[in-house]
Amino acid sequence: MRDLHVEEIHCKTILNRSTMPFAEYTLNAYLGCAFGCSYCYVPVMRQRRGQCDEMKWGRWVQVKVNAPDVLRRQMLDIPMEARISIGTATDSWQPLEKKYGIARRILEELAYYPNHVGIVTRSPLLIRDIDVLKRMEDVSVGVSLPTFDDRIRRIFEPDAPAIAGRINLIKRLVDAGIKVTLFWCPILNGVMDKRDAVRDYLERAAKLDVSKLIWQSLNYLEGIMPQHLQLIDKNRAALPFEHSDTLTKDELASEIAFWCKRFGLATA
Ligand code: SF4
Repeated sequence: MRDLHVEEIHCKTILNRSTMPFAEYTLNAYLGCAFGCSYCYVPVMRQRRGQCDEMKWGRWVQVKVNAPDVLRRQMLDIPMEARISIGTATDSWQPLEKKYGIARRILEELAYYPNHVGIVTRSPLLIRDIDVLKRMEDVSVGVSLPTFDDRIRRIFEPDAPAIAGRINLIKRLVDAGIKVTLFWCPILNGVMDKRDAVRDYLERAAKLDVSKLIWQSLNYLEGIMPQHLQLIDKNRAALPFEHSDTLTKDELASEIAFWCKRFGLATA
């Protein structure tokens, strides 16, 4: 892993009210993310909110060392039907979690409650916590997998876990009876939005026995697209697909619908 600036902090709250349609509360065990994916929208959103980070995204992480204790207190005031989403602004199972174990202690706390908990991660480290997930009443895990091709992964998210590890995570979760959603997010523009790539991805996805697939095109947020296109230009020779023949948004949606139906893959 490249140089990483780590800081331990004490948070005042760990559950934050959310206006997102899938959760009433969000929970992030860390601030910053060592995976530093090139297309991550979090640094762009931080900039928009006036949170100017001195270090580049992916080079710093703040560890909320008191998060489990704060959660214990906050859970007493949360209605049982409130849904909690873990992983909206960081990956809580990033490498530092191996040392700190904060996300695991958070799950242990949540296991006392019936609230729905939705997790999003791309880290096989979550395999460590399957025993806790099995004790939870209503939990689902979304595994982020923008590609099945490690050559593409290495270009756009070089510090994130390899594809084989994520597939292993999915298998282990499915085998443990935990509901898994495959997050095809983002669909990398100019790389994966092609007929062959779509069919290939969905054919492989259908073999994973996930409950459903959620897909989303790359955000066109300011700051992400120019960087994304530069990466494509720089690595064109290493990409397994040509930059031509990309699908329009509507074509992409109908292509995905067609192949999901053909391969028996449920979509949200
Ligand atoms: S793992 Fe998620 S939060 Fe972390 S850099 Fe990648 S997209 Fe951003």
